[in-house]
Amino acid sequence: MNKIENVDSAEISKFESQSHGWWNPQGDFKPLHDINPVRIRYINERAAFYGKSVLDIGCGGGILSEAMAALGATVTGIDRGEAPLNAARHHLLKSGQDICRRINYLQTTAEAFAEAHAFSFDVVTCLEMLEHVPNPCSVINACKTLVKPGGDVFFATLNRNPKSFLLAIVGAEYLMRLIPRGTHTYSRFIKPAEMTDWIQQAGLIPQNIMGMNYNPIFRTCSLGGNQDINYLVHAKRP
Ligand code: SAH
Repeated sequence: MNKIENVDSAEISKFESQSHGWWNPQGDFKPLHDINPVRIRYINERAAFYGKSVLDIGCGGGILSEAMAALGATVTGIDRGEAPLNAARHHLLKSGQDICRRINYLQTTAEAFAEAHAFSFDVVTCLEMLEHVPNPCSVINACKTLVKPGGDVFFATLNRNPKSFLLAIVGAEYLMRLIPRGTHTYSRFIKPAEMTDWIQQAGLIPQNIMGMNYNPIFRTCSLGGNQDINYLVHAKRP
């Protein structure tokens, strides 16, 4: 069957061209390295990784996947891009047997993977990915299909308002050059209320929305405060 994929190939090409530097903490993906410990703590406190099967959607070079495996999860990382997965597999070889045997990376989309893996995972993570797809709702629906009843789903994305435009695009891409220009498209940012609606429409139950405050100058990150720019969402399948 030849269905139209929920993929923006220009977005995938951008990630492909930057993938060689995925694990460089000073490189194009610097903010992902900086925010990783905080988001890992948030998810682990709510869904305890140890012994769980986790699907990481849009895993990229595997910064999140590896950290979850290090805490005892068995992780399947999926991504539409080939180069990000090559970066992930390459890095995994250097990460020791214990982590290596707990991760499997596959090139596919959430929707395609959901066709054969319904109700399969204790935890599904989809972080910093929804703002790169044409139809985020479709990915959220796939997450619902993929997670087991009673399981946990986590999203992270960028809010859409003048402040996030100024800080996440003008500031981060143009003034500070923290990430490459064109990384984000403002119209694809998602308001927390839109996210909550889509989660409920998919049949998941929102549990919590948490602001994530990233300071690119000091390279620190903390949870709480407002959800004006970055935020995390926890939902459960009934
Ligand atoms: N989730 C990772 C990486 C985020 S970067 C982290 O937070 O550390 C976004 C990733 O989503 C990229 O690797 C990109 O290739 C992937 N992606 C974009 N659109 C996709 C799609 N439709 N299906 C699967 N992966 C996609």
